Amino acid sequence: MEKNYDIIIAGGGLAGLVAAIQLSQTFQVLVIDPDDYPRHKMCGEYLSLEVNPFLTSLGINLEELSQVNINRFSFSRGSKSIETTQLPLGGKGISRHLLDYELFKIASLKATFFKERVSDVNYINDIFQVVAGDTVYQAKQVLIATGKRSILDKKLDRSFIKKKSPWLAVKMHYDYDMSSDLVELHAFNGGYAGLSQVENGKVNLCYLANYDSFKKHKDIDVFNDEVLCKNDALKQFFATAIPAWEKPITISQISFEQKEPVEGKLIMIGDTAGLIHPLCGNGMAMAIHSAHIASQHVTQYLNKKITRDQMLINYSTEWKSTFKSRLRYGRWLQRILLKENYTNIAYTLLERLPYLLPIIIKKTHGQSIKP
Ligand SMILES: Cc1cc2nc3c(=O)[nH]c(=O)nc-3n(C[C@H](O)[C@H](O)[C@H](O)COP(=O)(O)OP(=O)(O)OC[C@H]3O[C@@H](n4cnc5c(N)ncnc54)[C@H](O)[C@@H]3O)c2cc1C
Repeated sequence: MEKNYDIIIAGGGLAGLVAAIQLSQTFQVLVIDPDDYPRHKMCGEYLSLEVNPFLTSLGINLEELSQVNINRFSFSRGSKSIETTQLPLGGKGISRHLLDYELFKIASLKATFFKERVSDVNYINDIFQVVAGDTVYQAKQVLIATGKRSILDKKLDRSFIKKKSPWLAVKMHYDYDMSSDLVELHAFNGGYAGLSQVENGKVNLCYLANYDSFKKHKDIDVFNDEVLCKNDALKQFFATAIPAWEKPITISQISFEQKEPVEGKLIMIGDTAGLIHPLCGNGMAMAIHSAHIASQHVTQYLNKKITRDQMLINYSTEWKSTFKSRLRYGRWLQRILLKENYTNIAYTLLERLPYLLPIIIKKTHGQSIKP
């Protein structure tokens, strides 16, 4: 059985949902995602405020959803910590459980949702055929928003998927007493952890760890105890924090390799086009922004203002000019953070020249997105 849409979006995370909201105002849109809403997702849940005016234009009122306004940042390694600094733009502490669900509610007013995993996409005679379960759907254009890694990356033979990635991530909400206006970043051997509050007052601990460092310990509790707790601030955290869930969320094989925003005739949005290092706290904003950029170019194409090839070139060019330098700074910062001697040099430098930190943070973020 074949069903026809103007646009099919594979993946209903932040990027897929934002594109669905925008494109379904004019076109017939189908979103395919295997998960239910609401659901927890791997994320530090610090949302940069550069997306606030844009989200407002979509009908999301961040002020109503969360009173957690984060405008201070602190950093530590071992027993050292950099004094809290003011964040240039600031962010909201908001769970993906809430944010994705709010976007889903708006998207589902006009777009159709199908709960399944996309297993293949073929481009035949100027039409896309999308395979999900036993069903084949057809669309004039397909957007891939399947996140960091999916079965489609293998099908499309993308180069990043061929390389093993050493990164895994762990996330858990806790009851813990911490200032709601603060986001903390704590380095440990082979990784780093973020701590900040979300809308219900719980504190999100989300960390990225190198698999080589993790596998020596295997178990998350032992790893927390023997590696994370070498950092004094994290030791203090674990001494009093009470887990709010039965077990943490984990994902592995997180790749920070360079990706392309266009593959063949397919448009990639969100993490599918490129993942910035989590320490920058800009991945969600980039996912939202890339979906907005893609929606504008797809609209022009479907309204017959430009050809498909022109749309793909325009999207790719705009994606690169908007995000490439952020990704570069992110890679550079992560390299510093993970090497103890580099971090120590950076620490000494920032202690003497504290005004440098907001400047560096700014480099990994963008301007406010215009609705
Ligand atoms: C450890 C860590 C901490 C982070 N912390 C922050 C932070 O504090 N602030 C910030 O801004 N960013 C952070 N990020 C980045 C941020 O989480 C991502 O950039 C963001 O989630 C990207 O959204 P997305 O829509 O591209 O992907 P996702 O939100 O991952 O959505 C992808 C969707 O695709 C679906 N899917 C997968 N495969 C298929 C398939 N075959 N067919 C159909 N659907 C499929 C999935 O079910 C999922 O719903 C962090 C990332 C990590 C790894």
